[in-house]
Amino acid sequence: MAYQCPRCSSPVQRGSNSVAGVVGGAIGGLLYAAFGQFQCKSCGPIPKSEFAPEVQAKMLQGSIVLGLVAVVILVAVIWLLGLK
Ligand SMILES: [Zn+2]
Repeated sequence: MAYQCPRCSSPVQRGSNSVAGVVGGAIGGLLYAAFGQFQCKSCGPIPKSEFAPEVQAKMLQGSIVLGLVAVVILVAVIWLLGLK
């Protein structure tokens, strides 16, 4: 899931946050990835509004997928805990 920086056209990454990863585990990391900012190595954080509309639509789809994965993991964990 790589997007281009609207300023310099180099690849941007979804921001990662080690604190969110530690606190929330996989779920926190996924939610942060779904709703966090994008980072360009040269320009720093890029607001989503700077990306082209079609790219923003793709990002929204990606965020929904990541959010659904987080919910599925959460439900699976609750279900597994309920079995014991
Ligand atoms: Zn850039």
